[in-house]
Amino acid sequence: MSITKHDWTKEEILEIYNKPLMDLLYEAATVHRAFHDPNVVQVSTLLSIKTGGCPEDCGYCPQAARYHTEIEGNDLMSVSHVKAQALRAKSNGSSRVCMGAAWRNVKDGAEFDEVLEMVRTINKLDMEVCCTLGMLTENQAQRLAEAGLYAYNHNLDTSEDYYKEVISTRSFDDRLQTIENVRKTNVTVCSGGIIGMGESIDDRAGMLVALATLNPQPESVPINALVAVEGTPMENEKPVEIWEMIRMVATTRIVMPKTQVRLSAGRTEMSREGQAMCFLAGANSIFAGDKLLTTPNPDVNEDMKMFELLGLKPQKPFAKKMQPKTTEAIDSKFKSLGEKPRWSRPEHKIEKNIEASIKGK
Ligand code: SF4
Repeated sequence: MSITKHDWTKEEILEIYNKPLMDLLYEAATVHRAFHDPNVVQVSTLLSIKTGGCPEDCGYCPQAARYHTEIEGNDLMSVSHVKAQALRAKSNGSSRVCMGAAWRNVKDGAEFDEVLEMVRTINKLDMEVCCTLGMLTENQAQRLAEAGLYAYNHNLDTSEDYYKEVISTRSFDDRLQTIENVRKTNVTVCSGGIIGMGESIDDRAGMLVALATLNPQPESVPINALVAVEGTPMENEKPVEIWEMIRMVATTRIVMPKTQVRLSAGRTEMSREGQAMCFLAGANSIFAGDKLLTTPNPDVNEDMKMFELLGLKPQKPFAKKMQPKTTEAIDSKFKSLGEKPRWSRPEHKIEKNIEASIKGK
């Protein structure tokens, strides 16, 4: 059980996903206990540092400028505001702050410099810092690493086959390229996906194949249940059933034994019993705070009550990997290069997306 397998096939993963539930839970819990303390759960706080107005067309996302949702857009948050929020998160038991910006890709310049300062500031609070800023060049990944970034989130979202039904403004390969750029640094990779977007079980397995065959596998894999937001092309998708979530978490745990499996969006719709089964199935991370970027999340006090009830403890920062050293900007080996990203922009059009933007006009 100590060797991580990197040659998973879709058939093998489907066989695991479709096992009788009790067998699946037992196997996942056994793997979980071999690699992790089952009573420790890592708690992250997600902070939207720049909200809305995104040029991309991710069909699930209320922050895409082309969909007409009720979210309130915001320019880049100040460093002092981010620091105050991070201190609040720390006092509420979070070991990690994940900062999200609704950008297609990072652009070198004043805003990226501000983000680097936010990373340095949170690292100095002895918290793990994660960013999710869109596509990154290798140089930008290096600069984030020098600022003390612990993790970079870049979700694959779904399988390669289904990807074009969800997003047309970038390709699956673009996603893999950013993950590869992050892997050239000492920053850990956080990458997962969303279920409930109209994909098949085959697609869920396909996404897990893409993640589990990365070598090394991502240190963290968020599993989200779609929060269907009015005004997005996915507004009418059926809610994900708890059993689907449990199966997805358990399968992820078995195929990626060392990773932190993150129970992410969709927790407001889950009972405590449902979440407890997800923890038993191998989930060992959650997002805390009443908002996940723009969608609702359980109140932190409710989460702490659930931890007490289940005898769970929040994981301490840097329990899995040492705190990254912050190199002051002045000493940086990786100066801004003003690089032009060369990502693809497939001409593919998604009917549901076109309909949604026409409807909103
Ligand atoms: S998921 Fe990210 S990249 Fe896609 S539209 Fe939303 S903010 Fe933009």
